Amino acid sequence: MTTRLYYGDSLLARFDATVTEAGVLPDGRPFVVLDKTGFYPTSGGQPHDLGRLGGAAVLDVFDRDEDAAVLHVLDRALGPGVDVSGEIDQARRLDHVQQHSGQHVLSAAFVHACAAPTVSFHLGPDVSTIDLTAVLEADAIARAEHEANRIVQENRPVEVRYASAEEAAALPLRKEPKRGGTLRLVDIEKWDLSACGGTHVSRTGSIGGIAVTGWERYKGGTRVGFACGLRAVRHHRLLRDVVTEATRALSIQMSELPEAVRRLQSDSREARQQMRGLTESLAKYEAAELASAAKEIAGHRVVVRVVDRDANGLKLLAQAAAALGPSVVLVSASRPALVVAARGTGSAFDAKTLVASLIARFGGKGGGRPELAQAGGLDGDPAMIGATSVEILKGD
Ligand SMILES: [Zn+2]
Repeated sequence: MTTRLYYGDSLLARFDATVTEAGVLPDGRPFVVLDKTGFYPTSGGQPHDLGRLGGAAVLDVFDRDEDAAVLHVLDRALGPGVDVSGEIDQARRLDHVQQHSGQHVLSAAFVHACAAPTVSFHLGPDVSTIDLTAVLEADAIARAEHEANRIVQENRPVEVRYASAEEAAALPLRKEPKRGGTLRLVDIEKWDLSACGGTHVSRTGSIGGIAVTGWERYKGGTRVGFACGLRAVRHHRLLRDVVTEATRALSIQMSELPEAVRRLQSDSREARQQMRGLTESLAKYEAAELASAAKEIAGHRVVVRVVDRDANGLKLLAQAAAALGPSVVLVSASRPALVVAARGTGSAFDAKTLVASLIARFGGKGGGRPELAQAGGLDGDPAMIGATSVEILKGD
């Protein structure tokens, strides 16, 4: 069993200890167990600490449940029996302390303001989350956020004490404790009493502030994202930069942003509809122009043309022109090229054979029927593919 120094001092930066066990994990990384440690192992939603132990970097810290030992995973092996000094990454720890204490304050606020208990907590790299049993709307969440920040501002004392399972059973704990034996209780004065092994502030003012960053429906309840202290400032900065860029691009005030986005959406819907109508009427004219340009080639009336269209546009135009009489061969202006061939009315033109001959010359893939065939990935100059089509037809 490892003595946990962080239980007594949440902001302990350095400590001395003795290596009681040194070993190697199944993945090959070395670890040590100490007689006592200041390093927090991943548990209760709070991630592990980082730092240094002797000459080694601490990469991971976790509990070994069988004997309540704390395992420190290192970047290099340390021998058993040696005395080492430990150094904990203070910025990371302070951040975790703020998020974790902030979580207790916020979870209690959701109980007090909305009767919504927390079922789980996750401390993430940017934003942390709590999952609530109730479905909550914006005003309820704002109420809880406001209450939580009132408790931060009042700078209430946070005390850690211990109680037996029997003693704890008579106390108004926010959540039923998962384990028996002696419980470590974190007591935020007249606000929240929770069984917790995490690291916490000594007064709520040190949390700095609690910002709800967003929420979503989750498993029949609500998942609330939040950030405390400097994280809240970082989140604000991100929002500010995104909003500033958007309002500048649209030359509007921040409050006008939602309305401006709605207007843009409806404008673009209208423009798309108009465009569809115009494209359809343009296609009719283009088809007529194409059909009128057809020439007699080896007994077929055919028009061969390079046009700047995608696969679908080529096919629609070829079919529309072929419906007016002549057979049609269209090559895209892009490289690798696309080709679509369509048989005209009353003609024996074989679109499939022509496309197969083009694939044999220029590569690519495709196929179809004698009436309509297409291919893509032809490696050649589009004008050359057009001219080759004419030659193939003449050679028929
Ligand atoms: Zn906790």
